[in-house]
Amino acid sequence: MKNKFNSILETIGNTPVVKISSIAPNNVNLYVKLESFNPGGSVKDRLALGVIEAAEKSGELKPGQTVVEATSGNTGIGLAVVCAKKGYPLVIVMAENFSIERRKLMRFLGAKVIITPAALKGSGMLAKAKELADTHGWFLTQQFENEANAAIHERTTAEEILRDFEGERLDYWVTGFGTGGTVNGVARRLKKERPETQIVLCEPDNSQLIGSGEKQPEWRGKGPTPSHPAFRPHAMQGWTPDFISSLAAEAVEKKHIDRLMPVSGADALALSKALAQKEGIFTGITGGASFAGALAIANEAGAGSNILCMLPDTGERYLTTPLFEDIDTEMNSDELAIAESTPNYRFDNLAIPQDEENEEEVEDPFPLTDAGIATMNKFLTDSDSPVVMFALEWCEFCWAARKLFKALDIPFVSVDLDSVSYAESGMGTQLRGALLDKLGTPTVPQIFITGEVIGGCTELFAANDDGSLKQLLERAEVQFDSEKNVIGADFLPNWVRKKD
Ligand code: PMP
Repeated sequence: MKNKFNSILETIGNTPVVKISSIAPNNVNLYVKLESFNPGGSVKDRLALGVIEAAEKSGELKPGQTVVEATSGNTGIGLAVVCAKKGYPLVIVMAENFSIERRKLMRFLGAKVIITPAALKGSGMLAKAKELADTHGWFLTQQFENEANAAIHERTTAEEILRDFEGERLDYWVTGFGTGGTVNGVARRLKKERPETQIVLCEPDNSQLIGSGEKQPEWRGKGPTPSHPAFRPHAMQGWTPDFISSLAAEAVEKKHIDRLMPVSGADALALSKALAQKEGIFTGITGGASFAGALAIANEAGAGSNILCMLPDTGERYLTTPLFEDIDTEMNSDELAIAESTPNYRFDNLAIPQDEENEEEVEDPFPLTDAGIATMNKFLTDSDSPVVMFALEWCEFCWAARKLFKALDIPFVSVDLDSVSYAESGMGTQLRGALLDKLGTPTVPQIFITGEVIGGCTELFAANDDGSLKQLLERAEVQFDSEKNVIGADFLPNWVRKKD
């Protein structure tokens, strides 16, 4: 298979199947299919490509037309990848309770993200996406009922499974469902070509919509799709919305599901972590959940059975969710014991070890020159820009000070001493020489208002917090947002803030 591509979109699909060794019973062959290898990091890249290309072909989607969809995240990221490459503007509607990193990923990929209240659940965000599409004439991808969603799984996911298990048994194929695209498309093809393969569909144990045996209440044409009576909030983001989609219902009605498998949230979290720590396989909560279902099957399957389990996405998408809740940010006691097992480079022993033998006479790093003093004074006396910060371009404290200035709409000049142009002319070090001579300290940033030094980031924040900054700015007749109140420390980098 060639591994050189003309576009990122060609890298969608063809995900690897990997055998589990340490956390599977050893009389069966348990495999996982790693959908995190898709460019957007999840199975939903397939759907995104499938629905967009089907709509292009049918003429439903016109060049440059805005695409809109309601999604718990992965579909949005997949659509963002596809729309970025193909040049369609994209609007994603997402409930506020899905993880923050998903919103940011979509925005990073150029999409606009509209947030809806958690209380209105999955059906609420869907209704909003419909409303936006109707009002603005946007193309709604309708992932929950779009036949192209199932079709791409029939064409790609199922095809890959058939290829990878060619000439071998495949006794069980295990998945969960969100839109039902994966189960609908793959099961359809397997039932045709591998009727002996048992299709196992997992659901959260506390929210068994299909397991309840109750049909999805019908939509009566007004308001959002009604919630299924068995729906309860559950841990598996991306599985089991509060309704049974038509794609999922179709797989059930056609008797493509051989077995339902309830899975607990706790098992899902534990097995996602076990896959990471024992197999080096990084998957999200639904990956852990599907794997929990597959393990239950593995424990009762006959010797030599082949089981394949879908792992829909990567674990990196869940840093702010219960999956990472007990992963420490600070050193735990084991790590502290390691840190303290040698004498140096410790927070409780801050003396920096000196390599005395290598100490040589070095040139003055910050030479005091007339040109340096003159340039510094030019900045300090420029009446057009009373607020001046001598800074380093990427220093975190300089960024913190810039953020405070921006929050209060304070116009300022940042003289970045390590910028390429100052490095080339040598003026950066000469300005530092002039500042050192004037202030008696080499630290940066140094902030001035009408030539009067405020100090560094700490002093700037203190002056903000005690109100003196506003007085100084008003005295200097600087126009800024004097009504707004902010707390200096809120702008500090996280690693500094957490120490308090
Ligand atoms: N897991 C995750 C994390 C998902 O985002 C989704 C899709 N919503 C699924 C599983 C289920 O896939 P499908 O929509 O094809 O049923």
